[in-house]
Amino acid sequence: MIFMVELKFNKGAIIHDAGSTKNYKTGDWRTFKPSIDKSKCIKCGKCWMNCPDGAIRKTKDGFFEINYDYCKGCLICEKMCPVKAISHEVEEK
Ligand code: SF4
Ligand code: SF4
Repeated sequence: MIFMVELKFNKGAIIHDAGSTKNYKTGDWRTFKPSIDKSKCIKCGKCWMNCPDGAIRKTKDGFFEINYDYCKGCLICEKMCPVKAISHEVEEK
């Protein structure tokens, strides 16, 4: 006997077209929200180099900032920071 099961997914977690990620602000998937403490940052760029979503950008003063429109809260940046300048809190929805 075969049972048919209808699965329903929310559209929010789908990127429809290749190369179109910039068109979809995916930061609302985030559970953890990282932040950078500039007073500890040594400007090494490791967070920027390792962010899988390209959600970290360099600022004019040589520091780095997180673009929360695209940050998904994986916390790789926090793991990579050699001076523990990045910490996180649970995202408030
Ligand atoms: S938490 Fe993940 S997605 Fe967000 S800035 Fe850090 S490395 Fe990038
Ligand atoms: S990894 Fe840490 S110390 Fe290096 S640029 Fe990023 S926040 Fe600054």
